[in-house]
Amino acid sequence: MSNIIDEYPRIEEKIKKRDLKDIHYIVVHHTVMDDEPIKADVYRLLKYFASKDNHITPGKPLPAPAYHEIMEVVEGKVEFFEISYSQDITYHAGNWNKNSYGISINQMDYEELTVDQYKRLVGRLADLCIQFNINPGFIRGHRELKGTGWFLQNKKFKLRKICPGFVNLRVLREDVHQHLRNRGFFRGLIDEKQYIDKKYINGFTDFYRELF
Ligand SMILES: [Zn+2]
Repeated sequence: MSNIIDEYPRIEEKIKKRDLKDIHYIVVHHTVMDDEPIKADVYRLLKYFASKDNHITPGKPLPAPAYHEIMEVVEGKVEFFEISYSQDITYHAGNWNKNSYGISINQMDYEELTVDQYKRLVGRLADLCIQFNINPGFIRGHRELKGTGWFLQNKKFKLRKICPGFVNLRVLREDVHQHLRNRGFFRGLIDEKQYIDKKYINGFTDFYRELF
């Protein structure tokens, strides 16, 4: 884990703060920059957030990067970069910002994770569950969040994002849970009621349902 928080031109007076005990969710994202020259490179991503061209606060730089952490492959190796303090309330998931920690998989394109990337992600999410005392049932993919991931329109379910890409979130939570159990943490059950709501999942078309 590299801490590169100070690489960002933080606008401290504009960054809202929280207690660590207010972190109840870990939200997994996926970042792909379509336009050159910003591609799968955490420093370029930071430049993008600091520029007026960012899509989150158009015309103004973000006070702090949108996420707390980035997972990226650097010269063939999976690396994690801490880009915001956990206490920072960053702009990554609308109404969920205050109570969630945002981690993004930064890639060149929408690619499935390699086995190595996936394993490292599971291990890192397990660490975060321990750090913030979060049951793996509280891990969310961005697309699972009401309002910012999906919304209702004319009684129909609409997906705003497929973020974090082709990660099966149900399997991911189970794998994190198993990982924690193997390490002797969270002997209890995954808190399924926190994320399974068949009513919502069934509201999507088959293609999207597959993603959940
Ligand atoms: Zn996202």
